[in-house]
Amino acid sequence: MAFKSEYLERVYESVERRNAGEKEFLQAVKEVFTSLEPVIERNPEYEKWGIMERISEPERFVQFRVTWVDDSGKVRVNRGYRVQFNSAIGPYKGGIRLHPSVNASIIKFLGFEQTFKNSLTGLPMGGAKGGSDFDPRGKSDMEIMRFCQSFMTELQRHIGADTDVPAGDIGVGGREVGYLFGQYKRLRNEFTGALTGKGLSFGGSLVRTEATGFGLCYFTREMLASKGESFEGKRVLVSGAGNVAIYACKKATELGGKVVAMSNSCGYVTDESGIDYRVLEKLYERRAPISEYVNEVPTAKYVEGSRNMWFDVKAEVVLPCATQNEIDGEAARAIVAGGAIAVAEGANMPNTPEAIEVYKKAGVLYAPGKASNAGGVATSGLEMCQNSARLSWSFEEVDRRLDDIMKNIYKSCVEAAAEYGFGYDLEAGANIAGFKKVADAMIAEGVVY
Ligand code: NDP
Repeated sequence: MAFKSEYLERVYESVERRNAGEKEFLQAVKEVFTSLEPVIERNPEYEKWGIMERISEPERFVQFRVTWVDDSGKVRVNRGYRVQFNSAIGPYKGGIRLHPSVNASIIKFLGFEQTFKNSLTGLPMGGAKGGSDFDPRGKSDMEIMRFCQSFMTELQRHIGADTDVPAGDIGVGGREVGYLFGQYKRLRNEFTGALTGKGLSFGGSLVRTEATGFGLCYFTREMLASKGESFEGKRVLVSGAGNVAIYACKKATELGGKVVAMSNSCGYVTDESGIDYRVLEKLYERRAPISEYVNEVPTAKYVEGSRNMWFDVKAEVVLPCATQNEIDGEAARAIVAGGAIAVAEGANMPNTPEAIEVYKKAGVLYAPGKASNAGGVATSGLEMCQNSARLSWSFEEVDRRLDDIMKNIYKSCVEAAAEYGFGYDLEAGANIAGFKKVADAMIAEGVVY
């Protein structure tokens, strides 16, 4: 039996049966269910109200064809998805991912995680996610625009400022959100906050671009402080070189850390004098690979193979900000051997269950993504507030609110873990605190929506 609770075992078996082969989704469900054993035992009403059966089944799952024409005139077909996982505490909310690896399992795992993450922010947002197996790499601006327009032509039927509010994720930044928003506005004839991550001149919020990386570092700062530690003087490893990674690098450096290496899907750069986020920003803007960093900074070195970074470079603070399951047990052992004292997830589910076990056994502080990377969606929530009120807050105002939200998330995780006998286990705490609010709302709203 995977679970002590007969109820959890029965529900998980049925999730496995109905989502056969969807390994990322099953991994995410199992991880959450495992933390919930004492919650289910202490609160029999969750079984009575069928909460676990309902919370692990999306309210709606849409799959659609996305056709577009490339620059050579050839017709191309991709697959689009939107999962609206749970709307118990607010309108659906979650990013759009454009990457060739996108499939139903990945979209469902992300939507499931998003439900608990959004709950942790304390803002009224339900869980969703979307995306396509479209590969933005090597595409021209016009191809990206045509794809985004075609994608939105179907998606607009399912979203809206009070229904479902998408945002960016892997492969979707300001440019893509702009094209998606333009098409939404054209088809619906309304200027509303139906997407977040918008440009500043058309309803975007200051700090949204930086929010996930900044929030990750605010959360990590709190976690380090619990052991009397800080970023000051620490060597930091960041994987990825995209939106989350760049601003994690910036804030970790501002807080006194030294980012000694960063990666992309092909390799990593390392520089003992510290990685300069401004150079990464420029590379990101012109969509250049991280290997070109060494052309701008002569002290840096580029090494092929991103996975090698975990084995070759030692650091006290590790911030995986690239993709799911990028660190397995073997890489985690290398991270521990390299002297890590804290691992905090900027990406969603970047550590395999085995890797998490390795940290816990070694006494390394571990922050799960649904808590530590929640700053992005929290700031999207703040963008929604500003859109509804038709006003814009200053950078300092949004950053202060983001910092407060991250402190509150950290506190909720610590308290929930202690209340249910998990000691200082932020993974269990995040799952429990995120779950309880959603589950209690589901009971209050009744079985039939
Ligand atoms: P981006 O597309 O901006 O960047 C992703 C980066 O990760 C790229 O540099 C990419 O390199 C790199 N990468 C991909 N696979 C690997 C790998 N195996 N090893 C090392 N690097 C790799 O995405 P985001 O920064 O937006 O998202 C990163 C993660 O953060 C995702 O898990 C996402 O779900 C999560 N997240 C994002 C939020 C946001 O606000 N954007 C909010 C919360 C979570 P390459 O260009 O070579 O592919």
